[in-house]
Amino acid sequence: MIKDNLKQVQQRIKAVDKNQQVTLIAVSKTRPASDLQQAIDAGQRHFGENYLQEALDKIQALKKQGLIWHFIGAIQSNKSQQIAQNFDWVHSVDRFKIAKRLNDQRPDKLGKLNVLLQINIDNESTKSGILPEQIATILAQFEHLDKLSLRGFMCIPSPSNSDISFARMANIFKQYPNLDTLSMGMSGDLELAIQNGASFVRIGTDIFGERKQ
Ligand SMILES: *Cc1c(COP(=O)(O)O)cnc(C)c1O
Repeated sequence: MIKDNLKQVQQRIKAVDKNQQVTLIAVSKTRPASDLQQAIDAGQRHFGENYLQEALDKIQALKKQGLIWHFIGAIQSNKSQQIAQNFDWVHSVDRFKIAKRLNDQRPDKLGKLNVLLQINIDNESTKSGILPEQIATILAQFEHLDKLSLRGFMCIPSPSNSDISFARMANIFKQYPNLDTLSMGMSGDLELAIQNGASFVRIGTDIFGERKQ
């Protein structure tokens, strides 16, 4: 069933991904390693996790299968070291202090950690993320973080107007030609996100089913 869901999601992506630019991240928060293994057996390689401890357990359980791990959840300072040591990408960097810690804690042997800035694209008080008008200032500070590779932006738009929000995010992204990655689109709006230039879509429910909590 996970295998069939995955195939359906891949087909939805293919139908709109004219330039074949999109990578599917299977968002596996709250799911057991056995669910991820089903997706892996069906060819899935990129996984997104929100909660550090359960993510570490799954990374350990599923190692040596060539997986690429994305941290997409809120980052507390005291968790940054484990994130820097165990992930390939971090999508949820929302303040410079966290970027600095990830940089200082990234082990040399792992190469650069790929980082996206989480943008609070709709200026919602309930969401974390950098406000659009703060982006330029934060980006300038990244020059000195040589263990990070700043690749682009991630956003979670307000569901009521995600088409407008995705377009606004895409416009900001265009102003930074040295960045190459836009992480946007979830189960309900992946087509809109891809039409607006997403490079990663992050899909949980439509692959693994509804989450209990
Ligand atoms: C849970 C989550 C997703 C997946 O959402 P679905 O609606 O289940 O596809 C994507 N991105 C982030 C940041 C999430 O926390």
